[in-house]
Amino acid sequence: MIETLQSVPPEFDTPTYRDVLSQLDAAAEWVHLDRNIWKRLRLPQRALCVTVPVRMDSGDVHVFQGFRVQHDSSLGPTKGGVRYHPAVDLGEVAALAMNMTLKCALVGLPYGGAKGGIRCNPKNMSRGELQRLTRRYTTEILPLIGPDHDIPAPDVGTNDQVMAWMMDTYSQQRGYAVPGVVTGKPICIGGSLGREEATGRGVVYVTMEVLRRLGIKAEGATAVVQGFGNVGSVAARFLTSQGIRVIGVSDSACGVYNNRGLNVADLISYKKAKHTFEGYPGGERITNEALLELPCTILVPAALSGQITEDNANRLQCRVIVEGANSPTTRGADEILKERGIFAVPDILANSGGVIVSYFEWVQDLQKYFWKEKEINDKLHEVITTAFNKVFEFSATENIDMRRASMVNAIKRLADAHLVRGLYP
Ligand code: GLU
Repeated sequence: MIETLQSVPPEFDTPTYRDVLSQLDAAAEWVHLDRNIWKRLRLPQRALCVTVPVRMDSGDVHVFQGFRVQHDSSLGPTKGGVRYHPAVDLGEVAALAMNMTLKCALVGLPYGGAKGGIRCNPKNMSRGELQRLTRRYTTEILPLIGPDHDIPAPDVGTNDQVMAWMMDTYSQQRGYAVPGVVTGKPICIGGSLGREEATGRGVVYVTMEVLRRLGIKAEGATAVVQGFGNVGSVAARFLTSQGIRVIGVSDSACGVYNNRGLNVADLISYKKAKHTFEGYPGGERITNEALLELPCTILVPAALSGQITEDNANRLQCRVIVEGANSPTTRGADEILKERGIFAVPDILANSGGVIVSYFEWVQDLQKYFWKEKEINDKLHEVITTAFNKVFEFSATENIDMRRASMVNAIKRLADAHLVRGLYP
């Protein structure tokens, strides 16, 4: 059946795109999705490639490549982060944009999906270079973004400061402050309380629901977290506060392991001071590969895509995977995990806390009325646990795994919107 669908154009055809697409195809086939809608969802609606010339501190001009992809806008303005990383390419950005469409649809937000990125290494760039890069990139994608159009946010390699520069660049062109053009901004210019921690917090809300549903007690449960950025470090901290023993963490260079449990607050201070886990006295050094294979109750991949593959899926020794990162599991690995009975909560559900609180931030910006942090965290808890339980029950009734159940729920909502809106012209 799938053979008669169009093949993927070479510009998008990357491993991440193929993975996300094959998940979409499998779910679309399962749900007997209208073929005309299916065909449309397989490709992004718009993709913009830009060159971003930047005067480096040396005086030389370096030309970077940047992208902004809007996958589907049937449910509302498109939404999604901007990634600064050396491995960024159009296919990856398009795959991540498709993921955002599915994520927003799944948790019931009035958004379509988008993603942006620049191929660069932000770790080797000065603050001035990053600012010039961000401002020129924002200028190049200006025709595509806006509070009613497409709303960027932080992702791997970007943060609230980058969002402040994007907001300022956009606002300078308009002549007045437009806080709603980006989310994940600093609080003082219209950011939301709780946004910075939202993805990690959401991962832990989901984890606690998984434990409750599977009848696993938090006391005695252990967790391993791969990645110690905005998602991993926050998730590790909140897991500890829920009484779960975090026994392993890592950043892009290396990891730390201690079966008696790591002191996460101490690790955060150490990493802040030394920028590495190297030499940390409270645990043994461990490679990123070995970290994923540690025996534990909960594994949280919260780094990059393609970490759990056909090569290592058979060696994983966790009971549950909660995907903090986007696309950390390849399609082949997913099949192995299913056979092995490992309970996996997919990215579009597990890490949706970020975009959920981005939505709250955007609503506050549009209303110019700001909420208390408790209100935000309570609403996040309600939205994410409702979505989780809906998917959990659907997966149990239909006897399908959580990824398929999440995809199908998202696709159904998109299909309704597409059908009722029709095809223009
Ligand atoms: N980059 C985050 C994600 O992948 C957040 C996106 C947003 O808040 O728009 O979900």
